[in-house]
Amino acid sequence: MASVRTPLVVGNWKMNFDHLEATYFVQKLAWLLRDAHFDYKRCEVALMPSFTSLRSVQVLVDADRLNIKYGAQNVSVTNQGAFTGDVSADMLARLGCSYVLIGHSERRKYHPVDDANIVDQVRAVLTAGMRPILCVGEGLEERREGIELEYAVSQVHDVTRDLSDDQASQLIVAYEPVWAIGTGMVATPSSAQDAAKAIREDLAQTFNNHVAQAVRILYGGSVSSKNAVETLDQNDVDGFLVGGAALDADEFSLICRLA
Ligand code: PGA
Repeated sequence: MASVRTPLVVGNWKMNFDHLEATYFVQKLAWLLRDAHFDYKRCEVALMPSFTSLRSVQVLVDADRLNIKYGAQNVSVTNQGAFTGDVSADMLARLGCSYVLIGHSERRKYHPVDDANIVDQVRAVLTAGMRPILCVGEGLEERREGIELEYAVSQVHDVTRDLSDDQASQLIVAYEPVWAIGTGMVATPSSAQDAAKAIREDLAQTFNNHVAQAVRILYGGSVSSKNAVETLDQNDVDGFLVGGAALDADEFSLICRLA
């Protein structure tokens, strides 16, 4: 990984853990990392609980002055009003969220959104002072056709091209090939690097080199402590978005320590 960017390891809990389990996990993770003399300045760690657990995580993080960051798995594009069931970016910012996942493939699959909606989510998150983690990645079909790089690049390009340089540099991109999510099939380190490099090159063209070098690009898809090291050795991969392996505090802490 290029030394200009601080690695980031994000645990995406998806629809797992109630607020009591979430609290227990955060305590255990903090304890494991403290025991390992983990340096949070060298690598950032973030967890993405369900909405229902965010307040409990916030209280614990504040009370114990933990360096663990947290965020939400989704956000509304509007800030308040008659939108039953939605949660606004301001509400999340008030809960101390640092990050919000946007466009995760499971959201795209079960709650289809178009690019315009994703652009609005990115803007809402930035306006509320948090950082969007924009999830992109090809399905099996695109991979079979050999167009995976173009596909991932255009997913990022189409959503970010109208942002200002300053906004774009706040962005985090998670390259997650859909076929690798929750399947145990991991992209090879070189194909994760190829995608991250292609995305970074496009950011340099759309914005400038400074923006491209500032944006952290994570790999996601069946990440575990067994496959993390080689992927992180790649120049353009700056960390991970971890699903299944983020449900086990021992395993997740190991990934953080490897990063
Ligand atoms: P996985 O999930 O690590 O279980 O493949 C990753 C994700 O969905 O973000």
